[in-house]
Amino acid sequence: MHFYNNKINLTAKFSGHPSSVCGYRSAVCGLHWSWKETRCSASLRLGFFAIILLAVSTASAQSYSTKNLKSHITYLASDKLQGRGTGTKGEKMAAKYITKQFRKIGLTPKGTDGYLQSYTFKPSANPHATTEDANVQPVNGTNVIGYLDNGAANTIIVGAHFDHLGLGYDKNSLDPNPEGKIHNGADDNASGVAGVIELARHYHDNDVKEPYNFLFICFSGEELGLYGSKKFCEHPTMDLSKTHLMVNLDMIGRLKEDKTLMVGGVGTAPGLEKLIEDARGNLKVNRDSSGIGPSDHTSFYLKDIPVLFFFTGQHSDYHKPSDDAGKINYAGEAEVLGFIQRSIDAAVEKPKFTFTATKNKTANNPSFKVTLGIMPDYVFDGTGLRIDGVTDDRPAARAGLKAGDVIVQMGDLPIADIQDYMKALGKFSKGEKTMVKIKRGSEEKSVEVEF
Ligand SMILES: [Zn+2]
Repeated sequence: MHFYNNKINLTAKFSGHPSSVCGYRSAVCGLHWSWKETRCSASLRLGFFAIILLAVSTASAQSYSTKNLKSHITYLASDKLQGRGTGTKGEKMAAKYITKQFRKIGLTPKGTDGYLQSYTFKPSANPHATTEDANVQPVNGTNVIGYLDNGAANTIIVGAHFDHLGLGYDKNSLDPNPEGKIHNGADDNASGVAGVIELARHYHDNDVKEPYNFLFICFSGEELGLYGSKKFCEHPTMDLSKTHLMVNLDMIGRLKEDKTLMVGGVGTAPGLEKLIEDARGNLKVNRDSSGIGPSDHTSFYLKDIPVLFFFTGQHSDYHKPSDDAGKINYAGEAEVLGFIQRSIDAAVEKPKFTFTATKNKTANNPSFKVTLGIMPDYVFDGTGLRIDGVTDDRPAARAGLKAGDVIVQMGDLPIADIQDYMKALGKFSKGEKTMVKIKRGSEEKSVEVEF
């Protein structure tokens, strides 16, 4: 998950993108549409068919192996990989591990060099740096790409980023003194990578030939600014216009006790909202219609591709050295994967989706000059903006705001949700002071914040 504070640069960069709905897409719609074709003979009698249906539904209800998830996450988030910073040895080791898994499963290599697609970029470390800055050293990143060819016209892309913050030198850590500490990134995003590997195994090993192909892709460069996914979208190894849906898994390892998670992108094609509602089972879902978010699906959305983004929410270990494998809710992740699979299974039954541009909150907030230094709770569905984490020595921390506080007003602007918060931020400048009204438990409090 890309650090929220940096999302500002990101959205500013993206704000010029044309958000037209591609007319020819809808024309293509339906032409390549074919019913799910199973390997069972069509001449089976109804009774047998019912038994098979039962078997199929039992198979899809079958939970994902927590043992496999644990072994992927434990390796990827081990100290040996030194936090998988993009361009480091640990990142290459992670790429090697994913390659090995893709090969073992039997996916076809779909990079530019076997499973790999490598690229070089100059990260912009701060809002004022440009990629042309001669002092910025180029970084070499890698995407790992495997393909499951079902002989179909169109493809579903399932992705997750595998890079993380390395040793905390990239300014994205929330630790007060991060330098030199290994940021293992178990939830962010070894959890998503483990999910991609296990979904790949499922779709490869099931006895169903879906009417869509699958492309499984693990990106790096995400934490520094979605570089891997941008690279793939600019230099795709498949025809991107043949994408039915892009499914992004970023931080799916911390399902909370109340079983609430967030799904973004539900407004990017008609039918996605209902599809998610029908597939969620006993999980609770907070939906976000926008195709723009703090992770790699944004790159695909900006290429007019329908997207879904699965995320189990922020926590106090987010972007800290303590995001460790021992804190993952493995049974919870298995449940989330069951939900993602049911969503993909439902998408497979649909003709190629028609891309729909969503109203992006960011369009109204192309940039803001100030931030509070907080992690918003993306899955909070009460009124206000719930703080999930506070960065030391930033305006919120200096004003005494804490994780769990709910911001309900900034200056004279009421804050009902994250969009209001972002809009409000756009109204303030550095050095300015304002009153922020919060709810802490049953107490209501006003504090003065200096930006
Ligand atoms: Zn992250």
